[in-house]
Amino acid sequence: MAPLTWRHHTLLQALLSRGPLPEPDFHALFTDMTGGKNPATHKQLFVDTLGKINNELKYLNFDLRAGINQYDGTVYYGVINTIADEESKLGSKYSVPQIAFYKGLLEAIVQEAGNDGTITTIDAFNVRIDNQVIIADSTQDSQSRLPSSITNFSFNQKEKTLDDLIQDRWLSYTSPGNIGLGIRSFLDLRSWFRSNDIPSCEVCNEAGIKASTCPNEGCNVRIHSYCLKKKFSQRKASRACPGCSTEWPRQEGEDEHDDDEDTNEPEEGQQAPSAPSAVRSSRKRRKGVKAELVEEAERAGPSSAMPRRSSRRAKAEVAQEASSSAVASQPTRSSRRRKN
Ligand SMILES: [Zn+2]
Ligand SMILES: [Zn+2]
Repeated sequence: MAPLTWRHHTLLQALLSRGPLPEPDFHALFTDMTGGKNPATHKQLFVDTLGKINNELKYLNFDLRAGINQYDGTVYYGVINTIADEESKLGSKYSVPQIAFYKGLLEAIVQEAGNDGTITTIDAFNVRIDNQVIIADSTQDSQSRLPSSITNFSFNQKEKTLDDLIQDRWLSYTSPGNIGLGIRSFLDLRSWFRSNDIPSCEVCNEAGIKASTCPNEGCNVRIHSYCLKKKFSQRKASRACPGCSTEWPRQEGEDEHDDDEDTNEPEEGQQAPSAPSAVRSSRKRRKGVKAELVEEAERAGPSSAMPRRSSRRAKAEVAQEASSSAVASQPTRSSRRRKN
């Protein structure tokens, strides 16, 4: 296969040096690089080019992909590290307690009960980091064995880390005083969302971090607001939940005569426009994977099998725990699971 040309390197260089780029910027770059070939009119060339770049990147555990900022529906392109742990994703810039703080914030944001995908800055500063560090030897008191960098992680250090994480777009301000995920987390954590059982959007199958929930209390269906808008504008007659047929209320700002000109929105039943190597998992495959996981857990025996709880019930329990305790932040579901 022919090596990458200067054209490919130009695209890569832009993404690596400037970070994730909004789709219009990335498309403009592609158009420049190809002497006027717009991805909208030269779809195959665009897909082939990204495929060629990804063929080379995969040997280095990198991937060029598209992802959506779930707070505003904007599509971005970025190069991500496909090695799973946060330590390699956050690189050498962040220290162990800083990475532990990021993991704590991440868990608080994705498990936030309102499915808004945001926490207040006050909650952010109250995130515990001691439960993010795995103690190999459980025979001793774990608190006494924590490194002092963890136990002494100060308010000022949290403040500085929060600033850095927002600057580097791992996190973002979703509104004044509220913190959510940044575009790099949306791009990078696709497999983390899946392995942590974050419920997916019923329409696009991506994790529903910021999503609307079905008005029916007993139904766990989540749909991104941009997917909801697309789905219900196509079928004006029915606004029924795909899970339980309950009527979904109209969202704020949703117009009955909305046309479909917004190209940022993924087609119904498809993922966001994505680089060729991005996982295009069908709903069928997702169910298959889940079934396998259950089987695996059952084979492994009751000690390692987690009781399967509906996310709504789990959230209710977390809320109860939080309200019945004076501690501002509780150990989260996944950190508890780690100790099992
Ligand atoms: Zn969606
Ligand atoms: Zn429903």
